[in-house]
Amino acid sequence: MKNVANCPKCGKIFVKALRPICQHCYKEQEDQFDKVSTFMRKKQNRMSSIREVHEQTEVELTLIHQFVREGRLQTKSFPNLGYPCESCGEIIKEGRICGGCTANITTGLDNLQKEKEFQERKDAERRAEKSKGATYHSLKDRF
Ligand SMILES: [Zn+2]
Ligand SMILES: [Zn+2]
Repeated sequence: MKNVANCPKCGKIFVKALRPICQHCYKEQEDQFDKVSTFMRKKQNRMSSIREVHEQTEVELTLIHQFVREGRLQTKSFPNLGYPCESCGEIIKEGRICGGCTANITTGLDNLQKEKEFQERKDAERRAEKSKGATYHSLKDRF
């Protein structure tokens, strides 16, 4: 059988055809979505924050985040919904990371490159140290 996988939610083995989760979990997720969307459709709930939605519907925060991220709950209609930035966790409404983190990415990459160069230099030094290990020891004996 091809495309057989463990459901990331319940761990059961299922055929991964249309969805990343099994039929059972998918149905459960849709029920949860119905709950949230029914709640949000009420006029007085339009301005609810994710936490309020969570408290009123008892749907998991991460699931509500997912619905917003997938665009199933439109932040245009519900301005206080959002989902966390993948980098710092700040609530955002579009993309994968917040504006601050986007700005930091360039700097971050620079730092990563510097860190890599530093490690390489240290490795080279260590190798050099090893190759003259004998000399090093004799020196140490002398002092
Ligand atoms: Zn499942
Ligand atoms: Zn961020």
